[in-house]
Amino acid sequence: MGHSLKFRMTRVPTYRFQEARAVVLERILALRDMPRTEMTGLIDAAGRVLMEEVRADRDQPPLPRSMRDGFAVRSSDLPGSLRVVGEVRAGGVFAGEVGAGEAVEIMTGAPVPRGADQIVMVEHTAREGGRVVTEKPGKPGGFINPAGSECRANEVLVPAGTLMDFVHVAALASAGATQARVYRRPRVAILSTGDEVVPVEQSPTEVQVRNSNAWALAAQVRRAGGEPVILPSVSDNEEATRRAIESGLTHDLLLLSGGVSAGKYDFVEPALAALGAEFYFDRVLIQPGQPLVFGRARGRFFFGLPGNPSSTMATFELFGRAAVQLLAGASGAPLPLLSARLAHDFRHKPGLTRFLPARLAGDGATAALVPWAGSSDIAAMARANSWLVASDEREHYAAGDWIQVIPR
Ligand code: AMP
Ligand code: MG
Repeated sequence: MGHSLKFRMTRVPTYRFQEARAVVLERILALRDMPRTEMTGLIDAAGRVLMEEVRADRDQPPLPRSMRDGFAVRSSDLPGSLRVVGEVRAGGVFAGEVGAGEAVEIMTGAPVPRGADQIVMVEHTAREGGRVVTEKPGKPGGFINPAGSECRANEVLVPAGTLMDFVHVAALASAGATQARVYRRPRVAILSTGDEVVPVEQSPTEVQVRNSNAWALAAQVRRAGGEPVILPSVSDNEEATRRAIESGLTHDLLLLSGGVSAGKYDFVEPALAALGAEFYFDRVLIQPGQPLVFGRARGRFFFGLPGNPSSTMATFELFGRAAVQLLAGASGAPLPLLSARLAHDFRHKPGLTRFLPARLAGDGATAALVPWAGSSDIAAMARANSWLVASDEREHYAAGDWIQVIPR
């Protein structure tokens, strides 16, 4: 950790990437107000954070259950030739008991008849009239799910604070829950700054740019489980910036784009400071996104994201996404990382962790950098599907080396 003297006399820490992420997670977990709650149906539960844990309503499975199509037998009879005394299908029950030298034909998911302690797969048997023959040795418990082996009645299936996906929806459904109590989505204000920034509907002059950041951030916020609120963009004027920030701070989180560098017309930090903001950091040793700002004002967290489109998008994914998830009530917000092999040699200057647009190919096995013209290059980002993560401690990677990747 170092210190930044980007605009103020007070020293604000400068962190390495992982340190800065830890600061974001710690501060939000310590200071967040939990959102109010509402009920959601199963169809809308994925992407929401569960407020009340969901428990199993019965032992799963309630009875010992066959894991295969085949024959229910006594393991002590194997291998051998057994008399087939009946059949049980999924949803049915075999009324009798499997005696010595006997077998009951059984289907996957059917309850195992009394007396039997093993299932022999149908593929490992031969029918001979009313008998079934198998070479398989006895194996007590083979291909049987004992009662309660998956979960016990009243056991927690999905803990409170889980950001749910389709598997959690299955767990809810399996427990008979048609609704779940979830947290409301945090409302996330998006405020773009810059004299050159014009609305997407407007035709820009050659010195203007369309406000792509607000829309990228809105999509990212929504994916993270937040409700985006795009505010009108603001010009590079300290007073106007301060007023716009004030209205942004009435939301659960404020995302600012642009105006956080060391330029003469970068007014975001002075405007925040004038509103009494506490800055947790205002520089991170990453690229893109080095001037990233994180703090709290008027009881709300804010991020000042650098305005270059790739910086804005990357810093949101690296920091803002976790913030939205935590403000949505999630108990944690891990960074989705995977490893791939580099398709080519790669060299960079250590000291900054770099996030470079890359393409994962071969079902994610290899990653290759996408050539780009720098942080403003949305076209290159659109050709990429991920970011390579180049360590701040390592200068050279060879083709075939493992490297971390953040998929989009
Ligand atoms: P800044 O971080 O304010 O210095 O902005 C850096 C560069 O990012 C600017 O020169 C713009 O070209 C670009 N930029 C800033 N804001 C936006 C925006 N809302 N949408 C698209 N590009 C932007
Ligand atoms: Mg600017």
